[in-house]
Amino acid sequence: MSPLKPDISVRKVTDLDLQKLWRSGKRGLLLDADNSLIPYATMELPDSYRTWLDDALARGFSIVVFTNNFRKRAMLIQELVGLPVVYGWVKPWPWGMARAVKKLGMPKERILLVGDQLFTDILGAKVAGVSSALVDPLAAKEHAWTRLMRRLERLAGR
Ligand SMILES: [Mg+2]
Repeated sequence: MSPLKPDISVRKVTDLDLQKLWRSGKRGLLLDADNSLIPYATMELPDSYRTWLDDALARGFSIVVFTNNFRKRAMLIQELVGLPVVYGWVKPWPWGMARAVKKLGMPKERILLVGDQLFTDILGAKVAGVSSALVDPLAAKEHAWTRLMRRLERLAGR
């Protein structure tokens, strides 16, 4: 299977069916921050996303936010969402993926990574051996590096 093919594709994080995920044995969520949970360059968590996160926690899911942001923005994100954050130059590199999996502290089969980018999120999930869900990016405005990755994603057939 292509290392860039997600197991699940949905329009947005809140479209993920928590009951179905739980039934399939998932217990841990690794959530990308920028443009998956929080529109790029903003510091706002949409209300519907807050509700979805609370629902997931109430059902018993463990959640770790997983971002390539450096410390300053990662700490702001941690404060905003109230969940543990693994940050730095972590995705899709094996050491970063291992850190995130360890943070959740459960077998890989129980983990779903959710993100909006093929070359960091989806490839990272493959590197870590966890399932993946691809979402559409929340905002059109993106970092220059991300825009370059988008062009590569289109070449890869997204
Ligand atoms: Mg992202």
